Amino acid sequence: MDWADELAASVTGRQVVNDSKTPSGTVHVGSLRGPVILDVIARALRARGLDTELLYGVDDLDPMDAQALLTPDAVETQMGRPLAHVPDQEGDGHASYARHHAQIFIDTFAGLGIHPDRYYWMSEVYAAGSIDPYIRQALDRAALVREIYRRVANVQHPDDWHPVQVVCEQCGRIGTTIVTRWDGERVFYECRPALVTWAHGCGRSGWTSPFGGRAKLGWNLEWAAQWSLFGVTIEPSGKDLSTAGGSRERSDAIAREVFEREPPLNVPYEFLNIGGRKMSTSKGRGAAAHRIVEVVPPEQLRFLFVRTRPNSAIEFDPDGTDAIPRLFDEFDRVADATAGRDVRGTLPPSPDRLFAHASLATDPAIVAERAAAFRLPFAHVAFIIQQPTMSAATAAEAEKGGALSATEAAILAEREAAARAWLADYAPEGARIAVHRDAVPEEVAKLDPDQRRFLAAVADLAAGGEADAPTGGAAWQSAIFAIAKEGGIEARRAFEAIYAAFVGRTSGPRAGWLLASLDPLFVLERARAAAAATAPAAATAPAAATAPAAGAGDPVVREGVRP
Ligand SMILES: [Zn+2]
Ligand SMILES: [Zn+2]
Repeated sequence: MDWADELAASVTGRQVVNDSKTPSGTVHVGSLRGPVILDVIARALRARGLDTELLYGVDDLDPMDAQALLTPDAVETQMGRPLAHVPDQEGDGHASYARHHAQIFIDTFAGLGIHPDRYYWMSEVYAAGSIDPYIRQALDRAALVREIYRRVANVQHPDDWHPVQVVCEQCGRIGTTIVTRWDGERVFYECRPALVTWAHGCGRSGWTSPFGGRAKLGWNLEWAAQWSLFGVTIEPSGKDLSTAGGSRERSDAIAREVFEREPPLNVPYEFLNIGGRKMSTSKGRGAAAHRIVEVVPPEQLRFLFVRTRPNSAIEFDPDGTDAIPRLFDEFDRVADATAGRDVRGTLPPSPDRLFAHASLATDPAIVAERAAAFRLPFAHVAFIIQQPTMSAATAAEAEKGGALSATEAAILAEREAAARAWLADYAPEGARIAVHRDAVPEEVAKLDPDQRRFLAAVADLAAGGEADAPTGGAAWQSAIFAIAKEGGIEARRAFEAIYAAFVGRTSGPRAGWLLASLDPLFVLERARAAAAATAPAAATAPAAATAPAAGAGDPVVREGVRP
């Protein structure tokens, strides 16, 4: 059974699924694993008929603690202030730094088909007084909180430490303040110049009310307070937080002992590791989520996250590899299986559920239509868009054997855009392929006699002798295997012969699709010319230009072949 369905089958009653994030800067693509898992869980719960609410919080009362995204003049004044109070550094109309950066991930989620029922902003939740009861309880039980930190995390806070931080009334910073007393209504706080290294407190101290947004709970307590306030039943959390003595364990203990509520079910998830090479240095695209989605479309990105169980790490190395074409191919196989088409090789346990989880749409009819849609393989799209005389739409229609539906045309357009971005930024050198139209490539000289006989048979087939010439990539692909078998030549060497004759390389796109996308007459002439080419001719003049347009029976024009 699919992991999300398994989880959904293990719970009963109304479910509240929650996650939250500090809007501190750019969203790394790996940080999308959590939201995708969250969304898939909510979908699986709903599919079982459970009343489910999906919440996403913006922890925008957290202090600004990274100066990289601040303008130089803002560093001194803004470091340590709540993110919700820091001005938007981009000047593009957002109410705050927090709103600007939260918008980036909200937009990214929407693009991935993740639509929480509600986003909540902690600055507003505090200001509305909703956290006040938890602040009071945490202050009343400060000794217990200190004891939990000591027991669970081996962290020893001083005896006067209290689990809230005040927004300094003088300088507005929150990261620099510490509360040392609580009289049941007010706290005594100090804004210390050297409490943290990344911001300087102003030195103010005094009594103030911690309620109504004037103070916030420490992170572990805030997390547990969210669970109580919103009735959270399921909250996945990253592996880094789920370690022994880590944040999740602290918050779990605080939920039980301080707020007296069972913590939500955890679904710990592993990281997405992006390649060995640093993405940030590769041709400027980086691992920012909004850049990755330009080359890995939403459904394939969701697929990348959901095809692996949450507790297994995902290794993804798209830079200079065929990881992205392989991701598309695997996605297509799962789509084929979902649509009931024959699929070679092993499949994941529940391909139809996996396909549904990867889909942007949740409507089963739309999901089924998309599964059944015709898709041209990604590598073939990438090949075609490099050939000036070819059109992906024409190739797709020929391959499908009919006009594309609106859905299919949209999928193809998305693939073309993704393939362009892939060729520009990620593709290995080997993916940059051009058909040698003008002359038989030099690589043909290295072919053995059996490879030449194979090419001659390909030419005969293209000429449409006993049988009609194959139409479409799949038909050509089968024909290649059949001819190779007949001629007693390994399929691999048959493909090499085709690549040598048409693209002047030892590897290339799927050979059947390559031949199908070329004019049959050109296939005939080129295969015949390459078959007839023998040992390297003495180097004379540059290679002869194109073979003349010739009928099937015309003698083959020997083209200059140089070593
Ligand atoms: Zn902005
Ligand atoms: Zn201050």
